[in-house]
Amino acid sequence: MKLNELTIKKARELLDKGEVSSREITQACLDQIRAKDGEIHAFLDVYEDDALKAADKSDVRRKDALPVNPAAGHGAGLSPLDGIPVALKDNLMLQGKRCSAGSKILENYTAAYSGTVVRKLVDQGAVILGRTNMDEFAMGSSTEHSAYGVTKNPHDTKRVPGGSSGGSAAAVADNMCLAALGSDTGGSIRQPASLCGVVGLKPTYGRVSRYGLIAMASSLDQIGPLTKSVEDAALVLSCIQGQDHKDQTTADVADFKPAWKQDLKGVRIGMPRQAWAEKGIDGGVRSQVQAAIKKLEEAGAEIKEVDLPYTDEALAVYYLVMPCEVSANLSRFDGMRYGLREKDLSLFETYAKTRVKGLGAEVRRRILLGTYALSKGYYDAYYVQAKKVQKLIHTGYEAAFRDVDALVTPTAPTTAFKIGEKTDDPLAMYLEDVFTVGANVAGLPAISIPCGESDDLPVGLHLIGNWFKEDELLAIAKRYEH
Ligand code: GLN
Repeated sequence: MKLNELTIKKARELLDKGEVSSREITQACLDQIRAKDGEIHAFLDVYEDDALKAADKSDVRRKDALPVNPAAGHGAGLSPLDGIPVALKDNLMLQGKRCSAGSKILENYTAAYSGTVVRKLVDQGAVILGRTNMDEFAMGSSTEHSAYGVTKNPHDTKRVPGGSSGGSAAAVADNMCLAALGSDTGGSIRQPASLCGVVGLKPTYGRVSRYGLIAMASSLDQIGPLTKSVEDAALVLSCIQGQDHKDQTTADVADFKPAWKQDLKGVRIGMPRQAWAEKGIDGGVRSQVQAAIKKLEEAGAEIKEVDLPYTDEALAVYYLVMPCEVSANLSRFDGMRYGLREKDLSLFETYAKTRVKGLGAEVRRRILLGTYALSKGYYDAYYVQAKKVQKLIHTGYEAAFRDVDALVTPTAPTTAFKIGEKTDDPLAMYLEDVFTVGANVAGLPAISIPCGESDDLPVGLHLIGNWFKEDELLAIAKRYEH
């Protein structure tokens, strides 16, 4: 096996035994990027020199820490991510590096500080390989809305990798890094994970700090890992989680710790009737996910149908609440403080021309929709109404979780679609999110894990867990994986 193909877990074992160095693993990733990324276009920037320097430093730390007493755990005090090459989505700020959120308006923006999660990775010795492509300001399901060109799906380069964290998903799927971070506002970690055949985890809202994440819709955004295994996702989560006074939405809860299970006896998994009744589910996707559910049952889980009212409404709520927050969050890109600025114009013209030139069509569409929904006379009918339905959705999940420990659906209704197939039809693109947005609207943790293929394209199994029960969720996912 090539070093860039390793999971984090395996890489750690080899590093701890002194059989490989972080430099070798990092170099293998850089070689893969050089060989493949011309075609895939997962990365917007690769930090080759910095990465190799960070790898060398990690190797020195590890040398000082060796020999390791295996009984004492890993790396004698080193973080599990020490020396591990990872990639960052282009909306996560790393001080001194470009950060554009896939937008023209931030083309020349250099991050003034590192976000909390990025800081944690750097402090724990992770090797940051570069920044990955994404839909502009994380709005999209295909990376086709990036201002810097589309990322290709490594399984079929005529197809999209999903989005908006498509660059991160493709980079992990094509072994250009061992893991990557993404952000998920309505499915942007899980859907690309599904379409690229990797694991993608959105933690509970409040588990991970978003300080230093370029905001899309602040009441929904979460940062999480894309990895090659469930165990790796757990590992990354344990390194990035935690309350942070710089993000007041982070919760004061016990740290997540993996609690792996031998079998799933006593675990109840619900199939939401309304979700499974969706007509748009592709036949191959349906049968693969049903086969996966059978496997969960064979592992001891009790599978039952449950009611989850408002499945379709969750999509409607999302596509109201999210644009409202987008219109507020993106008002800061006015040509005055950050990035692009059209000069020598009146104040109003500066705003207008900068935004028209700097923002793409999808982003402008959402700003307009959100501004409209928040405007006087419409606010009550749209925004307030959506917030009321959001509450009902929340209550619906609460009721479901009194009966079951997790909910199961496909991650996305389809496998990877062709580049260009949905760009002229925003509604078709939005329907990609039908199974994922519920977890954001209710703030629940959810994961996508590969579950076979349909016509040679990966299918994702979607599991939603109870609030802050990532340990249970990941245990079920891992038991499925093996
Ligand atoms: N595909 C969804 C959208 O376009 C999700 C985006 C996200 O999670 N950032 O809004």
